[in-house]
Amino acid sequence: MREYPPAHVIHEAACEDAPRGLISFRAHLLPVTHPNARAHTCVSPQTVTYDREVVAEPGDEGDHAYEPSDTRPPDATRLLCQHCWGTHGEVDVAEWLR
Ligand SMILES: [Zn+2]
Ligand SMILES: [Zn+2]
Repeated sequence: MREYPPAHVIHEAACEDAPRGLISFRAHLLPVTHPNARAHTCVSPQTVTYDREVVAEPGDEGDHAYEPSDTRPPDATRLLCQHCWGTHGEVDVAEWLR
């Protein structure tokens, strides 16, 4: 079981809209590290096919209370929040990248 962060936005590392200073990693790791992420327009099927470097822009959790959706990944601690797709728990994303 693990906590899910608010859904990240995935960019190719070279995307002009990607925030600077993020740690890049290979696209094949996405299902492990960011299972609930959304893809920016710069991400295409080739991003995964060629296992390009990507970065994950942190989601905007905003100021809202946890409200359960009807979606719960098998390893999530509880139903994902319908606003941010996170579990509102303490998340150590770096741990997933090891
Ligand atoms: Zn992008
Ligand atoms: Zn939320």
